[in-house]
Amino acid sequence: MSGKAAQSLKEPDRTNPLRIVQLLLRQAVELLGLDADVYEILREPRRFVEASVPVRMDDGRVRAFTAYRSQHTNALGPSKGGVRFHPGVTADEVKALSMWMTFKTAILGLPYGGAKGGVVVDPRRLTSGELERLARAYVDQLVEVLGPDVDIPAPDVNTDERIMGWMSDEYERLVRRHAPGALTGKPLVLGGSRGRREATGRGVVLAIKEAADRLGLRLRGATAAVQGFGNVGGATARLLHALGVRVLAVDDVEGGAYRPDGLDIPALVDYARARGTVKGFPGSADISAQELLTLECDIVVPAALENQVDAEVAEGARCRILAEAANGPTTPEGDEILDAKGIFIIPDILCNAGGVTVSYFEWVQNQTGLYWTEEEVNERLSAKMRDAFADVFRMHLERRVDMRTAAYMVAVGRVAEALAARGWIAPWTMPFKPRA
Ligand code: NAD
Repeated sequence: MSGKAAQSLKEPDRTNPLRIVQLLLRQAVELLGLDADVYEILREPRRFVEASVPVRMDDGRVRAFTAYRSQHTNALGPSKGGVRFHPGVTADEVKALSMWMTFKTAILGLPYGGAKGGVVVDPRRLTSGELERLARAYVDQLVEVLGPDVDIPAPDVNTDERIMGWMSDEYERLVRRHAPGALTGKPLVLGGSRGRREATGRGVVLAIKEAADRLGLRLRGATAAVQGFGNVGGATARLLHALGVRVLAVDDVEGGAYRPDGLDIPALVDYARARGTVKGFPGSADISAQELLTLECDIVVPAALENQVDAEVAEGARCRILAEAANGPTTPEGDEILDAKGIFIIPDILCNAGGVTVSYFEWVQNQTGLYWTEEEVNERLSAKMRDAFADVFRMHLERRVDMRTAAYMVAVGRVAEALAARGWIAPWTMPFKPRA
């Protein structure tokens, strides 16, 4: 992001993901020379639902949870995006996440628009029964605006394939027909895709490989640090380790594990599964989030939540590649500092798009009833990530803009092309043809 753009955000907007994504959208519209109508159509979600979701708790009382679903655009297809269960979920965060999904799916060339959902809840405080009733109630409240051709939820922070299984069952119960394509990230037995569980992490590692190739960095023997050890961070650490990258540090919300000559990631995966945290892993030292993100190593992967790489972290950063596995992990000020330091950023909307890509494969398999092998899924994912990286990198070189700006330009150009083709913006306001 340009320095001027970053400065234009005033406190408290500097960490508000919606303001940040709107700024990036506006910048891309201007750099592409598109009509201002494109910004006007895309700056807010097309539809935003806020619901109060009542759930019968185990003690017999009812508790109503605040829930959201944001459907950003359907210009390129049905909207698609995960559901987040977290106490810090806000309306603006969910809106921003839905916009990131639009841009992510556009970069990858998937026939979707962006959506996102969220529930304000700390799921660790719910019993399994309460969690199941909450998942079902969420679908119950939103069923009219969901469906395989309308809006397709998936997992995100604190939601997993077990929760997708309950949601899928609830959706089918309500519409009274089999509809596996209504949600993705489901258990295999309900029509889930092979390779979906680790798809986001696999995509992150594919993007790192593409970046390393272009920077002349050999991955075998390179060093890395990963923030967050959930679905995305865990898979990323495991796949980097399998490639011969020494993962020096990982952490989660409870604490960290640091070993200067590299962690035994397979043993750490087992440890974290048994203990629920990486903290205290034998032979490792604790490490704070700030220390991890500023560790001297080749690759840093923020894979937790938004706004982790702020100005202070960016000042201290000593990596060559920042691979944004999380959505929105870098603040605009952090971004500007990293850019000035010459750190190569793989922007979130490119870096973590492997998850939605395999969700798309899952939906295709559900719609056709023909199921693929894990090798087929992984090969198709590699091809998609390679092409997407090449498109963004080409824009970065040709237009001499940073990788994040380039990613937005590729994405917004494609969405604008669909808006023009639908007649939502006047075709003559399109100054260029984004793709042949
Ligand atoms: P998850 O719930 O499986 O894991 C989140 C991890 O982050 C946990 O290990 C948690 O302990 C850790 N964490 C939370 N706060 C932290 C903090 N302050 N410091 C360090 N660690 C912290 O969630 P996930 O699915 O792995 O999602 C992680 C990020 O990746 C999110 O930004 C999400 O939107 C993004 N993402 C997820 C997917 C997907 O397919 N699951 C796809 C694309 C992007």
